[in-house]
Amino acid sequence: MSLNFLVGFFIFITGLCIGSFLNVVILRALSEESIVFPPSKCPKCQTPLKWWHNIPVLSYIFLRGKCAFCKQRISIQYPLIELLTAILFLTSFLKFGYSLFLPFVFIFLSLFIVIAVTDIKECVTFDWHCYILAMAGIVCNFFNFGNLYQGYTWIFQTSFIASLIGLLVGALIIALYLGLGHLLLKMETIGIGDILISGAVGACFGVKYIIPILVFAFVLQVIIIIPIYFYNLIKKKDYYTFTVFLTFTVLAIIYGIFGNNFTDIIRILFTIAISVCGIALCIMIIKSIKNKKDNEQKADMLKLPFGPAIVSSALLFMFLYI
Ligand SMILES: [Zn+2]
Repeated sequence: MSLNFLVGFFIFITGLCIGSFLNVVILRALSEESIVFPPSKCPKCQTPLKWWHNIPVLSYIFLRGKCAFCKQRISIQYPLIELLTAILFLTSFLKFGYSLFLPFVFIFLSLFIVIAVTDIKECVTFDWHCYILAMAGIVCNFFNFGNLYQGYTWIFQTSFIASLIGLLVGALIIALYLGLGHLLLKMETIGIGDILISGAVGACFGVKYIIPILVFAFVLQVIIIIPIYFYNLIKKKDYYTFTVFLTFTVLAIIYGIFGNNFTDIIRILFTIAISVCGIALCIMIIKSIKNKKDNEQKADMLKLPFGPAIVSSALLFMFLYI
């Protein structure tokens, strides 16, 4: 057996254990308990767990997904997060190898998972999760472990300065977006917590990467929102908007696939049709948002936690681009 294989195996097991710890961090953050005390217990019946109930993934399989005491179902979230952490740790070892950047990547990944899961589960972001991520990013870049800006001599392109500017730019873009939403639509287009998440990710990746990361996060968010929007239109029996939306989507897909083979006239006709549908759709969406009186209802139409999108986008950049 080669050394790399052994180290990889060790990192995978460590990832499982860290994933188990992240579950505790998420659970205790949401229930506002300390991480160290009390010892782990069943979230349903509160019975303290024995050590053999706490083995990552394996315990879940042996207990068949049920608490040993009260027999209530244990959420599949626990083994999934353990596995996800282990797989991401192993992947980053395969990508970055034996590097001082690696421990920082582990810290980034762990906080990405915690931030995404608390946001998905309860739509909250905890300030200190973001502060730790930002600190880790600044320290990592101060020592230039990530080599994000290798070869740059311009002072603003040293990793450390780029990290600080990345923090400011990341936070500022989301703050601006929030402000514009208030001004134009009189609604919360995004959570305040997203300012912190975006700033922290900016500190990790620097000013050069935070803008593409955020742009891609918006794209991801739209991809997630489209089926939900579709579903809501059918549920509200708003077939008029639905038809326009469907026409727009179908035309855009056909144009995207066959556009290169079109003759000029068909291309012009397609462009006009897509533009008309697109503009009509925008007007309908803005009207429907403005018509909603109460803020809560406005929120449930479009608002979806944005933190998971930022974090996923950052993850993709880390593995595919950097
Ligand atoms: Zn129980």
